[in-house]
Formats: sequence, C-alpha cells, structure tokens
Amino acid sequence: MPKLNVKPKLNVKKNDQVLVLAGKNRGARGRVMRVFAGDGKALVEHVNMMKRHTRPNPQKGIAGGILEREAPIQISNLMVICPECGAPSRLGRKRVDDGPGQRVCKKCGATFS
Ligand SMILES: [Zn+2]
Repeated sequence: MPKLNVKPKLNVKKNDQVLVLAGKNRGARGRVMRVFAGDGKALVEHVNMMKRHTRPNPQKGIAGGILEREAPIQISNLMVICPECGAPSRLGRKRVDDGPGQRVCKKCGATFS
C-alpha cells in the first residue's frame, strides 16, 4: 500500500469558539488555544482539564502541587460556533479567486477566514 500523505482538512482554527459534542465536557464552549493538525486534536480553553501532579523545583521556581491543564481533544468532537450567527455550524469552504480559502457557515452563509 502506498503511504497516503494527505492532510486531513481541519475546519477548526486557533481562537475559534467551539462547542464540544462528545466526552465528559459535552455541551461546553470554549476558545481554541492550539491545534495539533497531525493528531487531529485541539486544546480548548477550560475544556478537558487534566490534573497534573508537579514536584516542586525551587531552582526553577516551580511551586509544585496539583496543576490543572487542558488536555487535547479530538477535533471531530468539536463544532465551530459561527461568529456571525452564533450557532454551532457545519462549515463549507469557498475559494475566492486566488485568495486563501474562506470558511462558510452553512446556516447563515457568512464567510470568515
Ligand atoms: Zn452563521
């Protein structure tokens, strides 16, 4: 089998507002902080928090204890909230001339980058 080197088309971008569709945070909304394109995952602010136990390290100024951090969540479990109509929407893609692809809200038809 030839190795397919196709990047999945991700509709989620950094700073998008998204709705979580599955998992323990189902129904939560948050801002995308980071997208891991290779893994198809994203970090969403205040969603999928994990407790991390940290050992104190005075030389590095780390206090130690239990820190809460976001853990990556599958992008397929996220839905982008349209900045125009505010609804969680499926997105299409539109290419205007030679410009970068625009994303299109399938509910209200608004385009955004
Ligand atoms: Zn919309």
